[in-house]
Amino acid sequence: MTMSYPSASFTFQSVSPPMQLPKPANLARVRGHHALNSKSQQSAWYPSRAQHVRISAAAAAELCAARTHTHTPSIKAAKPFRRLCGLSCCTNAVALGHAAVRRACTIAMCTADAGHPIPLPGMAEVLDQYGWMLELPLEELMSRAAVLRDKGQHNAIVSFSPKVFLPITRLCRDTCGYCTFAQPPRPGRRAFMTLEEMLQIAAQGAAAGCSEALLTLGDKPEDRWPEAASELMEMGFGSTIEYVEAAAKTILRETGLLPHINAGVMSEAELRKLKKVSASQGLMLESTSLELMHPGGAHHNCPDKYPASRLKTIEAAGRAAVPYTSGILVGIGDTRSDRLHALACLHCLNERYGHIQELIIQNFRAKPATAMAAWPEPPLEELLWAVAAARIMFGPNMNIQAPPNLTPLESAAGGGSGASSLDALQAGWRALLNAGINDWGGISPITRDFVNPEKPWPHLSSLAAATAAAGKLLLPRLPVYPAYLGLRGGAPQSTRHPAHPEGTAAAVRGELATKAPGTPLAAAPAEVAAAGNPLGQLSCGWLDFSGGRDSVGAAVLRSIDSEGFLRASAWVAGRPDMNEQEAQSQEQQERAQPSDVSRVSVSSISDAAPPPAASPWPPAAAASMAIATTMAEATIPTTTPAATTAEMGSMAATAQRASMPMPRWQEGRVWRVAVGVDGALEGMPRPLDPSPRVTRLLEGVLTGGRPLQRDEVELLLRSRGADHDAVCAAADELRRRTCGDIVSYVVNRNINYTNVCTYKCSFCAFSKGRTAEELRGPAYVVPYEEIARRTAEAWDRGATEVCMQGGIHPDFNGDTYLRILSAAKAAAPAMHVHAFSPLEVHHGATSLGLTHEGYLERLAAAGLGSLPGTAAEVLHDHVRGVLCPDKIDTATWLKVVGAAHRVGLRTTSTLMFGSVEEGPAAWASHLVLLRELQQQAEGTGGHGGGVGITEFVPLPFVHMESPVYVKGQARRGPSLHEVILLHAVARLALHPHVTNVQASWVKVGPSRAAQLLAAGCNDMGGSIMNESITRAAGAAHGQELPPVRMEEIIRAAGRQSRQRTTLYGIPPVEQTARSYGTVPLQPLVLAAASIGGLR
Ligand code: SF4
Repeated sequence: MTMSYPSASFTFQSVSPPMQLPKPANLARVRGHHALNSKSQQSAWYPSRAQHVRISAAAAAELCAARTHTHTPSIKAAKPFRRLCGLSCCTNAVALGHAAVRRACTIAMCTADAGHPIPLPGMAEVLDQYGWMLELPLEELMSRAAVLRDKGQHNAIVSFSPKVFLPITRLCRDTCGYCTFAQPPRPGRRAFMTLEEMLQIAAQGAAAGCSEALLTLGDKPEDRWPEAASELMEMGFGSTIEYVEAAAKTILRETGLLPHINAGVMSEAELRKLKKVSASQGLMLESTSLELMHPGGAHHNCPDKYPASRLKTIEAAGRAAVPYTSGILVGIGDTRSDRLHALACLHCLNERYGHIQELIIQNFRAKPATAMAAWPEPPLEELLWAVAAARIMFGPNMNIQAPPNLTPLESAAGGGSGASSLDALQAGWRALLNAGINDWGGISPITRDFVNPEKPWPHLSSLAAATAAAGKLLLPRLPVYPAYLGLRGGAPQSTRHPAHPEGTAAAVRGELATKAPGTPLAAAPAEVAAAGNPLGQLSCGWLDFSGGRDSVGAAVLRSIDSEGFLRASAWVAGRPDMNEQEAQSQEQQERAQPSDVSRVSVSSISDAAPPPAASPWPPAAAASMAIATTMAEATIPTTTPAATTAEMGSMAATAQRASMPMPRWQEGRVWRVAVGVDGALEGMPRPLDPSPRVTRLLEGVLTGGRPLQRDEVELLLRSRGADHDAVCAAADELRRRTCGDIVSYVVNRNINYTNVCTYKCSFCAFSKGRTAEELRGPAYVVPYEEIARRTAEAWDRGATEVCMQGGIHPDFNGDTYLRILSAAKAAAPAMHVHAFSPLEVHHGATSLGLTHEGYLERLAAAGLGSLPGTAAEVLHDHVRGVLCPDKIDTATWLKVVGAAHRVGLRTTSTLMFGSVEEGPAAWASHLVLLRELQQQAEGTGGHGGGVGITEFVPLPFVHMESPVYVKGQARRGPSLHEVILLHAVARLALHPHVTNVQASWVKVGPSRAAQLLAAGCNDMGGSIMNESITRAAGAAHGQELPPVRMEEIIRAAGRQSRQRTTLYGIPPVEQTARSYGTVPLQPLVLAAASIGGLR
């Protein structure tokens, strides 16, 4: 049987009452455990299968009846349904007549926009498909669920969202029997939190490392409470939703916290409006049981709790491609079959839209002074059953959470009578992990759980300890989950429903999948993805990027690491280390910069960013906003826990204000969120031992086993905590065995002969188009005589290499590069010229009508020593389509470098990482391609001793001035954890074919480069003399690292230094001696490009 709910476009028509329905009294007898205020009904938590079937038949009939009810125009016809559903609208209808029926039905059923309702499963169908779970012993169900979870993308990570909870208003038009959140208006107390109050709390959260501002409120309070309507009017807003939109926009802009909005039942238009200012939204379905709407039921007199109304909002969120949170409430009068039905309805919507990013399985807690104060709370086993059922129904990749502050203390899993409450809680948490959850939901160091104020969130260390005891690593996330962030830049997704790629059929029949799934990107509905999303395949429409760098999408990208988890670390490539406070100040400055990207070279960016956002506030509210912002700035605490505590005191004092909520219950010290260099939460318990699979892979590499496969490299690139430490230790050991303790470097000079370029690389802050002289310094070319002068000067200063690259000047052809080479060789014949990227070689060859090999042979004959392996960026065409759409593709890059190897020219190899690509997957592909390229070179022999690639140079993306970042479409480069890990994994993945791994001090700074020496690196690159490309992107690590300083750094790292040539030979003694001199560099000579190319 199939149940569908009507769209808003239904027409009222007379229908006959469904005479076959059981009478309410019979229903009550069948479902006796729904009666409230009866502790004696505890056994009803475990009804038999037969009972479930009878219940489901009754419930199905009732659902149909209720659906019909919405079409009922007459008071006469409404009467039977009033008894069934108990909605106040029906009561009103009887009293007020036909018009009231229509109005009330519209409220209850049709607050969402018209759409194309999809068939939802009926109870009989649900039980037919999933009813077997009612019979399975709990232990077996949990075991299957946990195995399924571990086959998914979660990779031993259990996440939580560090947040602040902002109860914008506690007025609500519903009256749920279990709720203490909803409060009536009180004289002298504001109905809504002010902007000042919200910003003050959000600033506290930002300082404590939170990522989420949870905006939770009652449903449409202005419809019931005149006080709410008048206060909104005073502030200049027409509705609560308008106020929420403005508040979210301001919080995002002023604090960087990402709003997650729970604003109740909404229309699709309202959801789309809030999507522009939020990272995600949510609405608990709670239950599909209509019996809860009866008088005495949990949802009696709650128009917004009508299941069809909520399902309609959830479906509208799918059409709007909103990353959405939903879930069920266990124990409010529902049965296990009801829970299966509610989950199945959500599953059905997610099958179509793929938008349900997480399921909350929340247990009812009885609260004093509520209608359900005496209602029995469900035992832990009931919660475990619902969690396990949800996992099995939704598959391995769904995110399933259970709030840790609500975990029932009575525990079959170890919470004995003698155990402390924390011990019992932790036993409950472990049981929930064993039942298949992978997330703890939002937890705040600052605010209370205002829905359950009597249940404080646990301290992070307690939760981390319980999570670690289950072999999992606790990690902070954003309110939007990684699969919706558009970082998974692998193959375009073919499925709409990536959260459960293995489907549910196998799971529901107990045939658990055996293959490990990938890490899919959630693909938004095609109509949304195609509708003007500036990032196209990157974001797939889940996030809004329409505000450029001020958009919520840009804010999300600024906040994440390569896996989509919270980047809770101040370090970025290209910038000297700074503490958290300095980093926050820097971020504020970056965010405060106008959104006008014309100040940088944007010839490569076709669509200009929008102007700075206008104030979302009406004039009446805008006046208070300036004051609020000032106060928020004044109250942002310092970054130490002690200072945060002090601020909490200040906040408590402020809490006397009219609508300011009290801070959370203090449990000793206040915690803050920070991720360390090992990718795990700093100072928090974590599993002590590396995982068996990582251990096996590392042993295989160290014992000379087969090379790592692409998915194995990716797994290592996702290492955190103990796995990270094990990977770094293995890389260090392999480096020691392969290269010894010597750290090499080359004395060299960079010459970037022009910054004029016709290409449109979105990451490049160096290049200038023909008409871009006024932008960030002039366009230039370096005259031939200046190239010669710089080369000679470098030789005199002890250099053995000049490294020459530049933009692709429209006037350059293959002969130009040959003349550049000749100029350098003429000035210093013994100088090794390391020049011309594969892109330049390709350009030179095609401009002369030569093959790659033919042109490379001419370059080699003219004295070219080797090629830099740049222009590779990320060897993944999906990613290149965003980063460098008109550059040579992956195959051409490999072809040019392969040709160079065949003519005897050696090359370096590079990877620019941390901008827009899915980190681990794209990096793993890149590394394996490089290894295969080197294996080809070894297969063909080549000239001399060494062949092919000399070294691998990871190049962390420097974001500050990069156009793609300035436009709000890239991350802030890799995290320090990712930088360290990539160098270490490169050592392991390229072994034994590429033996040198270089740390780039230009990108990461000298001290961090020294740190990389303990993660598999054996080379520090060049002394450079003149660095301009990375500095153009905003880096501040200097232009030269003289040999004396270089060797100090290497010795301080406990290693021996050695100068080398480009090809890892021994430099001439006299050059080495010269290199320690202190001859200053002469001023550089440039020529304006507008006067016409090289002369
Ligand atoms: S990266 Fe190179 S090819 Fe691309 S725009 Fe910059 S200079 Fe030109």
